[in-house]
Amino acid sequence: MDSFVGNSKIVSEIKKIISNQTVSNAYLFSGTDGIGKFTLSKIFAKAILCENPLNGAPCGKCEACLTFDSMADLIIIEPEDELIKIEKIRYAISELMLKPTISNKKVCIINDADCMNSSSQNALLKVLEEPPTFVTIILITSNKEKILHTIKSRCVTFNFLKLTDEEIKKVLHEEDINEDILKLSNGSVGNYLRLKNADYIDALLELEESITSKDLLEINKVITNLKKGKTIKEDIYDILDLLIIKLGDKLTDNFEKNAEKVELVEEVRNNLLRNANFDACLNYLGLRLYEINNKIA
Ligand SMILES: [Zn+2]
Repeated sequence: MDSFVGNSKIVSEIKKIISNQTVSNAYLFSGTDGIGKFTLSKIFAKAILCENPLNGAPCGKCEACLTFDSMADLIIIEPEDELIKIEKIRYAISELMLKPTISNKKVCIINDADCMNSSSQNALLKVLEEPPTFVTIILITSNKEKILHTIKSRCVTFNFLKLTDEEIKKVLHEEDINEDILKLSNGSVGNYLRLKNADYIDALLELEESITSKDLLEINKVITNLKKGKTIKEDIYDILDLLIIKLGDKLTDNFEKNAEKVELVEEVRNNLLRNANFDACLNYLGLRLYEINNKIA
């Protein structure tokens, strides 16, 4: 539990709950995706099921700890095709009603709990109204507003904060963190990894070079490459966002031209958002870049 990065207030709250043996029947872990809610829910579950927790953390030695990943006293529910069907909730409920086997507690984690439709939520509500004493249910969501009020009111809620840049670096143990991507990650390790793995970084670098080119052929080559890539099409907003950040950093170099380019990239981004033709938007970007770069100051 001590190696968990971020949200230290929630971590110490959880340790206190374990140490004082004041575990409730239901918790709601709420906050943006990719900040460790699911990871912490599993550590919490392990500590609840552990026979001899130490300083509020799982001991790692008892039978419950050693068999944690496959034990019957832990039920993890996740959506399929963004839906948690009522059958899954019914199955979880029937399991939760049986006495624990190895531990003296039972824990059910429902990941992306907002993927439960209203019948699933209503089925769950019935258990939350009268849960067996040994049961703890942990709901995880990045969309709290989609969870029924009647469910939320029965849960102890932990609102997770986004991570700081330093915390993201700590989670990823990477020395060569890309600072531009970090800025775009919006406090989420999940976002950082998604952005970093996309192959549009090359496209961005090319585009960044052409942003100062006075050669129409060179600019057109980059634009043509951009138009060809299918993944680029899906990631074009991220590429343009990164480009705006990079241009912003250079604003002091040649204020007028760079400010004009920031405006241009924002304009193209907005047009794409309004579903304007992808190729036409990029052609326009290339042409205007050529014009700006060749303008006599
Ligand atoms: Zn243990």
